[in-house]
Amino acid sequence: MKIDFTKNTDGLVPAIIQDSETKNVLMLGYMNQEALNKTLDTKKVTFFSRTKKRLWTKGEESGNFLELISIAEDCDNDTLLVGVRPTGATCHTGSDTCWQEPNNLDYGFISKLEKTIKNRKENTNTEQSYVVSLFENGINKIAQKVGEEAIEVVIEAKDNNDDLFLSESADLLFHYLILLQAKGFQLNDVVKVLQSREK
Ligand code: AMP
Ligand code: ZN
Ligand code: ZN
Ligand code: ZN
Repeated sequence: MKIDFTKNTDGLVPAIIQDSETKNVLMLGYMNQEALNKTLDTKKVTFFSRTKKRLWTKGEESGNFLELISIAEDCDNDTLLVGVRPTGATCHTGSDTCWQEPNNLDYGFISKLEKTIKNRKENTNTEQSYVVSLFENGINKIAQKVGEEAIEVVIEAKDNNDDLFLSESADLLFHYLILLQAKGFQLNDVVKVLQSREK
């Protein structure tokens, strides 16, 4: 790695700290050559603190370290992208990130859909909505609907009509997301269980 520490007169380069799994940006700090060396040696992210005016290993007081997973320089060697696994909250306010956001995995379109479903659950007496009517019918009815869609997936899996198989799969996933929400959960809660099973 050939980082140009001379571009800034203070010999510091910005280091963007990104969770390597969720891809969320957790914080921004600054490193000099010494901080970078210590980070590489100890595998714990170490900055040069501009306020403390010394090397600062993130977590040295709180115990919330940033375990080094990867490190890369940008196109013109003046910024670092540091992939980490945080051992706790990264921000000194106790928040996961310095932008006061939870460090959850984002599932893109599925997360957007979950938000819509959550809104429907919380504002039940809005305009006509299929999802609202499902929530009004209660958990048992929603669970039954998931069962029906699952059977439809099974039936279409036996045929060789891919369009119908995908269409029923979408129905199943959609109603399953609604069932999770009705039970007070989201897809991420299930993913956490799967992650805990990983060997
Ligand atoms: P820590 O490195 O987590 O043990 O925290 C030690 C001190 O560093 C805290 O009391 C804060 O002053 C500062 N600090 C910790 N985390 C951050 C952060 N994410 N951004 C800026 N300052 C921080
Ligand atoms: Zn650059
Ligand atoms: Zn912070
Ligand atoms: Zn269906």
